[in-house]
Amino acid sequence: MKERIQAAARRLGEAVSYPTISHFDMEDMDLDLFTEFLAFLERSYPLVHEKLERRLINGYSPLYRWAGTDPSKKPVLFLAHYDVVPALDEGWEHGGPFSGAVEDGRVWGRGSLDNKSSIIGLMETFEMLLEEGFQPQRDLWLAYGFDEEVNGRHGAMKIVEWLEGEGIHFDFVLDEGGAVADGSMMGIKEVVAVIGLAEKANASFEFTFTGQEGHSSTPPQHTSLGYMAEFIYKVERQPMPVRLTQTVEKMLESIAPYMPGIQSKILAKPRLFFPLIKGSLLKNKQTAALLRSTIAFTVSQSGSAPNVLPKESRCTANLRVLQGDTTARVLDHMKQVSGMDYQVRPIAIEEPSRSSSTDSKAYTHLTRTINQCFPEAVVIPYLMAGGTDSRHYEPIADNVYRFQPLRLTEEELALVHGTGENLTVDNVGRMLDFYKRFIETLD
Ligand SMILES: [Zn+2]
Repeated sequence: MKERIQAAARRLGEAVSYPTISHFDMEDMDLDLFTEFLAFLERSYPLVHEKLERRLINGYSPLYRWAGTDPSKKPVLFLAHYDVVPALDEGWEHGGPFSGAVEDGRVWGRGSLDNKSSIIGLMETFEMLLEEGFQPQRDLWLAYGFDEEVNGRHGAMKIVEWLEGEGIHFDFVLDEGGAVADGSMMGIKEVVAVIGLAEKANASFEFTFTGQEGHSSTPPQHTSLGYMAEFIYKVERQPMPVRLTQTVEKMLESIAPYMPGIQSKILAKPRLFFPLIKGSLLKNKQTAALLRSTIAFTVSQSGSAPNVLPKESRCTANLRVLQGDTTARVLDHMKQVSGMDYQVRPIAIEEPSRSSSTDSKAYTHLTRTINQCFPEAVVIPYLMAGGTDSRHYEPIADNVYRFQPLRLTEEELALVHGTGENLTVDNVGRMLDFYKRFIETLD
């Protein structure tokens, strides 16, 4: 097994060496690299490519089906993505952002964690199970997106379209998202294994304010820039109302037994005690984001010269919409609290995901396997602040869970999308152990 893990780590290194950077427009992507990456998968996992059905969706998203022995059982889908975000050349040790070097017990480079790790973990496990002559009961599917980092329009959304057309419906989907980490981020001493049940929507809008043109020596009371500043000021001062959603309620209930003293009793009934705990949850920006839809102003454009009044001023707001809200409701809120006139242009519209169940057989199976592989960890369901491809799959799955079997430190988590991203070889081993058990015991 040790050699297998080392070989898997080397293959993860090779996977990293293809700089498969995604961009919002497919035309801006170096798609030859994506084709090379897929050829690398074919070379590296011969049995998977011999025994499983494979089709390429939209040219670059491979979709695999391992036919099960019992067609009466609902299929299961494992997701991953092989596109990565860009990387600066500077600051990387071990040969640069796309070296894929395996040194000091780690695989180095962009994508080693997010999310080529999942692809190698799954491929390696499937290859191993095929070598052993394993036969799944259910159909097992693999789907790999190639533009997850830029919304999944060309990958995940096209895969879902195809699956919908075929009338395929999954018992559950398992994607990246949660992992095993220190519980300090949740205020407890225990190690936690967090499973994402839901994600907030990620929507962006541009707001345009119009004012008088002319010379700045004879200005009106407000320029378009002044109006825009007033708008931003008012919206920031009056955030969206606070609410306790079911997912966050479940999360707090799961943390409660590990909190000290009275806090444990209070958090065990978060809805009852919400007026009491709300204040302290709002003090921390991580937990505050779990309680409301957020609005962040991220881009602005205005003016051309020091002595010219700007006719138009524009700003962009990124909205993260909480379950129970809609994007339209957040826009109404902005209108209402500002009481101002402006034009709105959508950049990306999205609605929040559903919340998956913690009472399903699939969830029980997931937690049981986590308990076996990470006996030190407490399983906590949670709401993800970031987005994954899995949200696109909701129409074709009973439940969608977001968990990757990796034990990560806070420093390692901080390197995702940053400089120095890496994955320990130990974590490669953990993935093989987890996925193998998970699949072998899936009934
Ligand atoms: Zn990712």
